[in-house]
Amino acid sequence: MSFASLGLHQDILQQVQTLNYTTPTPIQQAAIPVVLQHKDLMAGAQTGTGKTAAFALPLLHHILQNKPAETTAITVLVLTPTRELAQQVHASFVKYSENLPIQSVVAYGGASINVQLDALKQGCDVLVATPGRLLELIMKKLIDLSQLQTLVLDEADRMLDMGFIIDIQRILKTLPESRQTLFFSATFNDDIFALSKTLLKDPQLIEV
Ligand code: AMP
Repeated sequence: MSFASLGLHQDILQQVQTLNYTTPTPIQQAAIPVVLQHKDLMAGAQTGTGKTAAFALPLLHHILQNKPAETTAITVLVLTPTRELAQQVHASFVKYSENLPIQSVVAYGGASINVQLDALKQGCDVLVATPGRLLELIMKKLIDLSQLQTLVLDEADRMLDMGFIIDIQRILKTLPESRQTLFFSATFNDDIFALSKTLLKDPQLIEV
């Protein structure tokens, strides 16, 4: 299988080629068509499987297809348990959208909120954030998530292990109902299934 056969936008295929990705990994082969169809997804995938591109590439495709020229609004939100993962995911979005008119911003605690606000004001299509800092931005009404199309929970199991469930539930209450939700977790247990049930509508299940 090739990236081209998955139906991704030409500009994204170009970028994938520049990065020398020749073949989609199994999680990419399974997840990209589901994400492109704007369906909910529950995916079991470890780090190192190519899971970031599995959601980043089709979400960038959506943005390219749908956003009016010269505008930005946060249409994709990725929540991660740690600042390190937030930085990595943000770096991946930047790498995959180089040369594309798409802005990614990262926001996490323990760093200046003003610097992050300045970045948001420059324009943001994709926000990658840790739950605590995002909640602070929401509660202080410093962020507009009314245009959100897709929520990604990355490493959901670690998010629960780290005690973020209350923060996540408070965040969810503020997001548009009619969104796509993508749920990635390395492990599954009862708590993960319970959380996924409150989040996902008729999800496709993928395990690699
Ligand atoms: P991840 O599992 O998202 O942390 O990705 C692991 C690594 O695989 C990253 O360094 C990616 O740049 C790389 N990668 C992702 N997809 C592909 C692919 N289809 N071909 C080659 N490398 C890839």
